[in-house]
Amino acid sequence: MERTLSIIKPDGVAKNVIGEVIKRFETDGIKIAAMKMIQLTEAGAKGFYAVHKDRPFFNSLTDFMTSGPIVVMVLEGENVIARNRKLMGATNFEEAEVGTIRKDYATNIEKNVVHGSDAPETAAFEIGYFFNAFEIQER
Ligand code: ATP
Ligand code: MG
Repeated sequence: MERTLSIIKPDGVAKNVIGEVIKRFETDGIKIAAMKMIQLTEAGAKGFYAVHKDRPFFNSLTDFMTSGPIVVMVLEGENVIARNRKLMGATNFEEAEVGTIRKDYATNIEKNVVHGSDAPETAAFEIGYFFNAFEIQER
C-alpha cells in the first residue's frame, strides 16, 4: 500500500471540477485517506515548491497557487503515486494523453488543475506538509 499527495489547484477549484477529479480517483479504485480545502499563503506555496525555487516560473507558480482555495488530499492504494500521475497526464496538457485530467481541464502548462507527488520521498514530505497523523485515515 502506498500514499501520495494530490492537490486540486486554484484553477480546478474555480472551474468547479473538484467532484470530477475525485470521481476519476474513486473510479480507478484509489481511496481518499484525508482531504481539506485551504488557501496557501505565499510562504506556504514557496515552501511547498522549494525544489523549483531556481526555475524561471517559480514566482508565477507560487502566485498562481496562492490565488484561490485548493483541495489537498492524501490518496491511498497500490502503486498510487504512478496511478495518480497517469490519471493526471503530462505537465504540459498539450502533451497529455486523451482522457487525462489535464488534457480535459488544463488551461496552460502552469494552470494544469492538479498536483501529484512524483516519488515516495516527495510524497512523504508533501503529505507531512499538509497533514498530521490524526488527519489521515487508514483506508
Ligand atoms: P506537479 O508537481 O504540480 O504535480 P509536475 O510534477 O507535472 O506537476 P513540475 O515539473 O513538478 O510538474 O512543475 C510543477 C508545476 O509548475 C507544474 O505542475 C506547473 O503548474 C508549473 N510549471 C511547470 N513547468 C512550467 C513552465 N515551463 N512554465 C510555467 N509553469 C510551469
Ligand atoms: Mg512535480
